[in-house]
Amino acid sequence: MAKDDSAAGTATAGEAPVRDFIRDIVADDLAARRHDAVVTRFPPEPNGYLHIGHAKSICLNFGIAEEFGGRCNLRFDDTNPAKEEQEYIDAIIRDVHWLGFDWGKHLHYASDYFETLYEWAEGLIRAGKAYVDDQSPEEMRVNRGTLTEPGKNSPFRNRSADENLDLFRRMRAGEYPNGARVLRAKIDMASGNINLRDPVLYRILHAKHPRTGDKWCIYPSYDYAHGQSDAIEGITHSICTLEFEDHRPLYEWFLDNLPVPSHPRQYEFARLNLGYTVLSKRVLTMLVRDGHVKGWDDPRMPTLAGLRRRGVPPEAIRDFIKRIGVAKANSVVDVGMFEFSIREALKAAPRRIGVLRPLKLVIENYPDGQTEQLPAANHPDDAASGTRMLTFGRELYIERDDFMENPPKKFFRLAPGAEVRLRYAYFVTCREVIKNAAGEVVELRCTYDPATRGGDAPDGRKVKGTIHWLAAADAVQAEVRLYNPLFKSPDPPGGENFAADLNPESLEVVSDARVEPALATANDTAPVQFERLGYFCRDADATPQKPVFNRTIGLRDSWAKERTG
Ligand code: ATP
Ligand code: MG
Repeated sequence: MAKDDSAAGTATAGEAPVRDFIRDIVADDLAARRHDAVVTRFPPEPNGYLHIGHAKSICLNFGIAEEFGGRCNLRFDDTNPAKEEQEYIDAIIRDVHWLGFDWGKHLHYASDYFETLYEWAEGLIRAGKAYVDDQSPEEMRVNRGTLTEPGKNSPFRNRSADENLDLFRRMRAGEYPNGARVLRAKIDMASGNINLRDPVLYRILHAKHPRTGDKWCIYPSYDYAHGQSDAIEGITHSICTLEFEDHRPLYEWFLDNLPVPSHPRQYEFARLNLGYTVLSKRVLTMLVRDGHVKGWDDPRMPTLAGLRRRGVPPEAIRDFIKRIGVAKANSVVDVGMFEFSIREALKAAPRRIGVLRPLKLVIENYPDGQTEQLPAANHPDDAASGTRMLTFGRELYIERDDFMENPPKKFFRLAPGAEVRLRYAYFVTCREVIKNAAGEVVELRCTYDPATRGGDAPDGRKVKGTIHWLAAADAVQAEVRLYNPLFKSPDPPGGENFAADLNPESLEVVSDARVEPALATANDTAPVQFERLGYFCRDADATPQKPVFNRTIGLRDSWAKERTG
């Protein structure tokens, strides 16, 4: 797929107003007074959780309503009780709110219109524009034809209106089992557009609906419910993804043949595809159902609930959506763009210290039993955010990765004989390396220079590396969860065979990390930066006994920076 740059640059995140072809249409319509106000909707089917692709549609629909002084409804297209659940309705409401949008009193359900849709269907029957078909699903499939061959008329196509009405009412009354009959529009079995080959309007489904309970045992098809719900709500611009382009003639057919109170127009845009990410609700459902992830809100999931739990702020998602823009050509967006927006949104987060894989460092010339408090800046670029005190003492933990026994030339961190700066503290020099019986490094014996308190040497001597540390005396043990992409390939398979592409290293649990004492007690979920390691947030699994943190995203490779000076 081509890189989508048709829209890039039109949407600079920040002050500049967003422009795209849909916003141009809306602006034209308002200027020409074709509508007094714009009315849009976000229309999820409550059969799963929302993902970052839905965020594009949400930001577009709610964004347009906001920018043009109109309104956006949240409408559930809840026409398939076999797959829909109250849990999904609740999650969708929560997630759209979290993303920062509000529909006021305009929370609607297609199921609110079931009675009207039913009456309109009877109207189509009376007008000779719909009929009850007794063909089996298999016969219907065969007789629909293909892209190159026309379909065949059903033998039931010419039933009288009275017979159709009687059968349809008996369908509603529950006289027939699932799949026995359907109501179809009588349009054209030879149409070049398969959607117009007598589409199904109603099917029999004996299933309890999350909202209407057992009231109905026939349910409207998505196509029959969707456009009419738009019309009932006075939607002016019905915005959907490109795969509905071929459905537009049907959308229009219904509006032209039913006594609808308004005539919305449908516009299609390219859905969001993201590298290394699957945005198929079907696959996401299987990931959850088959236990490949811990749930819909697993931080590896591209769902809004997963991103929230991972620590991605809603601003980051809105900023990303703004930057990618809206176009009519399908494309795959580089995950790097999303990561850029996440780092931008997190850059003001307070700095804290965490040590993922602790290595003990003992300062031989620091008095045993003594400690001192050293101030550490909460944010290097924001003096107003103040400082906090860190305990310093004879025994510290440093990051295992910050020591190398046989370092390459440009490794500026700790090594035998080398001197580094301990951030906010002193210079230390490594004097001795202690190993266990297996030959693993278990402790470093160092000396410190008391004159370098605060991090500078009075004699002007420089060190190239600065590393982070925590005092063994008060560092708190914590679990830290590091994440990698859930899939191995940039374009993961969207179908049944997705499992083969799952990345076995998508979750790495570091169970023996250490964090600042302040992080152990704070129970808020606000993001923090662990210096040099990335942005983190407290996970919902944390307890007062055991803090748990998720890495939201890493910083840019800090060693690369050190190497280039
Ligand atoms: P399905 O219809 O298979 O259940 P869906 O992802 O289309 O899955 P809906 O609940 O119908 O789910 O989606 C609600 C709205 O979000 C629709 O208007 C749809 O076009 C839009 N949407 C879904 N996926 C994306 C995406 N990747 N990018 C942009 N918009 C999307
Ligand atoms: Mg859909």
